[in-house]
Amino acid sequence: MEILLGKTLEELKTMVKDLALPAFAAGQIVDWLYRKKVFSIDEMTNLSLNHRNLLKEKYIVGRNEYTEKQTSTDGTVKYLFPASTGHFIETVYIPDKDRATLCVSSQVGCKMNCLFCMTGKQGFSEQLTAGDILNQLLSVPESDALTNVVFMGMGEPMDNMDEVLKALEILTADYGFAWSPKRITVSTIGLIPGLKRFLNESKAHLAISLHSPYSAERLSLMPVEKVYPLTEVLNIIRSADFAHQRRVSFEYILFGGLNDDRKHALALAQLLKDIPCRVNLIRYHPIPEINLPPSNPDILIVFRDILNAQGITATIRASRGEDILAACGMLSSNKRKNWQIPK
Ligand code: SF4
Repeated sequence: MEILLGKTLEELKTMVKDLALPAFAAGQIVDWLYRKKVFSIDEMTNLSLNHRNLLKEKYIVGRNEYTEKQTSTDGTVKYLFPASTGHFIETVYIPDKDRATLCVSSQVGCKMNCLFCMTGKQGFSEQLTAGDILNQLLSVPESDALTNVVFMGMGEPMDNMDEVLKALEILTADYGFAWSPKRITVSTIGLIPGLKRFLNESKAHLAISLHSPYSAERLSLMPVEKVYPLTEVLNIIRSADFAHQRRVSFEYILFGGLNDDRKHALALAQLLKDIPCRVNLIRYHPIPEINLPPSNPDILIVFRDILNAQGITATIRASRGEDILAACGMLSSNKRKNWQIPK
């Protein structure tokens, strides 16, 4: 059976034509999928019974409910969702004052093998479809309350650009969720082909994982540096047209004694001085099997203050969901390998 969730309005128009349904049925179906959030074709009650039966011969909605959840003492909730092909992905809900952010996954596993990342350790299984991505937004219990979405869960979004761009279209189109692109942030380690497409085809905010201003050191943390060096990524960002007020931020995880001293802060400020941006400093959350130390919290404050003094807006991102290893890929790893979920 084919899945309806994740189809754009144009794709649904083609589908209803092929099924010899009236053209207006595409508008009705899209409304049921993304506004009324139905789980089944039977619920699409303004389609005639005959038309619903025709649809059901070939299609299902494709909604999946979560199968596990872990709740942090700080209110962060990590959900485990089955993707359409049966693998599992993680989605993290992060409530914070008047914001309710969902961190979604874009791939099952990841090819990028960043040293500090549990998802990278899993290796790559497969791409998520736009439907798998949107299902996370539609099927968390907090769906109606969400204010923001960040593509910072499992996977590298710009290694799955076709499906991510399709999900972004549906999220922002009037026929879909009708969200402002300002509510959406897509994060990348800097895959240049995908980055170029994203800058041309989406108005959502952009976050780049940086983690070291020095190429050799960044390479030791992130193999992508060898193929797409940060200097090239920054040149593309410098030359991008930001007339529509896209926000660019840089994510910088601080590892104790590795990339968290004054020299690094000054080099980072120098690197970013001609790019209107902000830097999010993140304290490393230790995770199993990865031998990297977190920075002392006081060091983050010093690092932030050096950046701010150099004219770079920097903030320390509050740790959320540390006790449930939020967004590190651990829950889905457990599912794959039958490990004991840490208490
Ligand atoms: S940090 Fe992101 S890009 Fe790197 S391995 Fe993990 S999921 Fe992939």
